[in-house]
Amino acid sequence: ERLVGADADTEDQAVEAALRPKELGEFIGQHRVREQLDLVLRAARARGGTADHVLLSGAPGLGKTTLSMIIAAEMGAPIRITSGPAIQHAGDLAAILSSLQEGEVLFLDEIHRMSRPAEEMLYMAMEDFRVDVIVGKGPGATAIPLELPPFTLVGATTRAGLLPPPLRDRFGFTGHMDFYEPAELELVVHRSAQLLDVRTDPEGAVEIAGRSRGTPRIANRLLRRVRDYAQVKADGVITREIASAALEVYEVDERGLDRLDRAVLRSLLKLFGGGPVGLSTLAVAVGEERETVEEVAEPFLVREGLLARTPRGRVATPAAWAHLGLTPPPQPHP
Ligand code: ATP
Repeated sequence: ERLVGADADTEDQAVEAALRPKELGEFIGQHRVREQLDLVLRAARARGGTADHVLLSGAPGLGKTTLSMIIAAEMGAPIRITSGPAIQHAGDLAAILSSLQEGEVLFLDEIHRMSRPAEEMLYMAMEDFRVDVIVGKGPGATAIPLELPPFTLVGATTRAGLLPPPLRDRFGFTGHMDFYEPAELELVVHRSAQLLDVRTDPEGAVEIAGRSRGTPRIANRLLRRVRDYAQVKADGVITREIASAALEVYEVDERGLDRLDRAVLRSLLKLFGGGPVGLSTLAVAVGEERETVEEVAEPFLVREGLLARTPRGRVATPAAWAHLGLTPPPQPHP
């Protein structure tokens, strides 16, 4: 588990509930999605009905679960939380759907990982609030129609493009969540620090926000590690110096790169002159599996404009040389 990984680790799971904003007005950033959702929810409330189904797409840790809970809270409705991989049989889904209360929000994380039969059952449930439960097997099998109370499905996916169009089309509203700006993450850090009862200087929050890879979950995690350091090594107050010294101990640099990210870049620059070099060669040089380099380190390096994937291999950008404080070799004359 990496300190700068976007997926929730065990500690995140234990503490995140306390840090989640509870209403739309408290949710930081994502202005467009928030404004659109506000309209959807207000309109539904004015009609006295149930909100349209909502699809939220975006990388892990950007607040999809949090928003689904806010949707339920704003509608004054209960929420049921499950995920695509947990629903392997249509019967699993039928059991959940048939136990929903009227107006309940069903949050389905990783909706793109649901099994095909469950997905087909969901189409009908979303559109007609009805499912056909198949009883028996073979020629004697019969479909028993089951009426469902109206509910709001909130689906979350890291990639909306992976959803089959018939499923995508059944959502009344799709919100795309972007990575957060550093200024927004500073607000996240201040808010969480207050909830955790930790004093943070504005400059300390800047330092943490800048290393959080645009992701509130990572900002909250770094804040907890910096808090520990501030308690052990200082008077508990998070200043710029404390934040930067703490994150140096944890090997997270000013741009949010960790040891693995920097090892990949350093090999690319120092051993291969900035590339192009093949992925397998690069992985051997770093002493990691090919998949680790490709799936764990590279996405963020590409997003940051430090590394490019080209048909001839991996290539470092000028920003990579600058980031590691190295000078690129002189370009040969054409
Ligand atoms: P995953 O896809 O991995 O389930 P997610 O997108 O559902 O992630 P959340 O679990 O909602 O992410 O958020 C992770 C943490 O970040 C939570 O502790 C939440 O409090 C915090 N967080 C997310 N978005 C915001 C925000 N806009 N303002 C304040 N805190 C936020």
